[in-house]
Amino acid sequence: MFRNFKVVNRMVFGRGSFNQLDDILAPKRNNNSPAMVFVVDDVFKGKPLEGLIPLHENDLLVWVNVSHEPKTVYVDQLTDQVRQTMTDRGFKHPAGVIGIGGGSTMDLAKAISLMLTNPGSSSEYQGWDLIKTPAVYHAAVPTLSGTGAEVSRTTVLTGPIKKLGINSDYTVFDQVVLDPELIAGAPRDQRFYTGMDCYIHCVESLTGTYLNAFSQAYGEKAMEMCREVFLQAPPDSDDKLMMASFFGGMSIAYSQVGVCHALCYGLSFVLGIHHGIGNCIVFDQIEEYYPEGVAEFRKMMEKQKISLPRGVTAQITDAQMEKMVDVSLVLEPLWENALGKEWRKKMTRERIKELYRKM
Ligand code: NAD
Ligand code: ZN
Repeated sequence: MFRNFKVVNRMVFGRGSFNQLDDILAPKRNNNSPAMVFVVDDVFKGKPLEGLIPLHENDLLVWVNVSHEPKTVYVDQLTDQVRQTMTDRGFKHPAGVIGIGGGSTMDLAKAISLMLTNPGSSSEYQGWDLIKTPAVYHAAVPTLSGTGAEVSRTTVLTGPIKKLGINSDYTVFDQVVLDPELIAGAPRDQRFYTGMDCYIHCVESLTGTYLNAFSQAYGEKAMEMCREVFLQAPPDSDDKLMMASFFGGMSIAYSQVGVCHALCYGLSFVLGIHHGIGNCIVFDQIEEYYPEGVAEFRKMMEKQKISLPRGVTAQITDAQMEKMVDVSLVLEPLWENALGKEWRKKMTRERIKELYRKM
């Protein structure tokens, strides 16, 4: 069976395109539901971007904090807040939910838009195609590039027992606004870590057993742009990085990620290490699986003058180690993509522990 996957309905790309957001949203506002909810990374509080958010009467601005990656309890709390405010203002639902920020904020916006129309806790929907009712209209404005969250059909959440996305066609954004000017102010190291998420998506997709011409087309172009950005740094690097993120996301949409992501999920779940930096920490230790990719990654690190934390697993307990292995082993398609159908013979619990101990 070939995946018949959903893609983002509408996209705008260009420097300054954020200024078009008000016009883009106008037709989505209606009498039943005129209010937009802007879910915005609180790093922009008091920054120029705040003044550019096209807020109308009845709109709600929700500042979100992403010091921790999105948790299901946080999604539930934010959804209640939005629902209550809308009820108080006499509306059933908002006209739309707009996420402005990096992967974490975009994922929060996706999750809120889904949970406004689906009952219960977001933790009940971690998995594949468990969402039954379409979300309210939702749009993304990335301020960091690399995760591909702007194009993917998932919102990655940490729940009480697992770190797993709400994967569904309804998760995909209805609209994306790609304005390279918005990523210009990101801290250099964060820009690198998130950018490497894209580079690693490409390496894992292009070397995986699930590879096909579709994924290859997007993956090769995204990888080429990552190389330009992190090894040559041309003047239009932000434009290129933004498109690389998008293409990298398209590449894995029709293939899969691999060893690095599988191990990174365990690391994030147990130690709370963020996705971008976590991938970098893992990738640096798995040259056995991706020799060329890791060599080039190290060149990029050197060129960008990035150093990584060491010994992050040095102090963990046996129970934490077991949990990391559990979380990572659940991700069967990732292992199969990387190592083939017989992956269990190659990737034992002991081998995973050995790799984690090196980090
Ligand atoms: P992030 O959203 O977690 O943000 C990282 C840091 O950068 C935060 O402190 C944030 O406040 C700050 N920041 C963001 N934009 C900024 C800007 N322009 N200027 C200054 N600071 C800025 O980082 P990320 O790497 O984009 O996202 C990681 C998250 O994305 C993880 O939660 C991960 O699970 C998720 N993810 C989702 C998908 C998906 O398909 N849905 C894919 C990969 C990763
Ligand atoms: Zn990733």
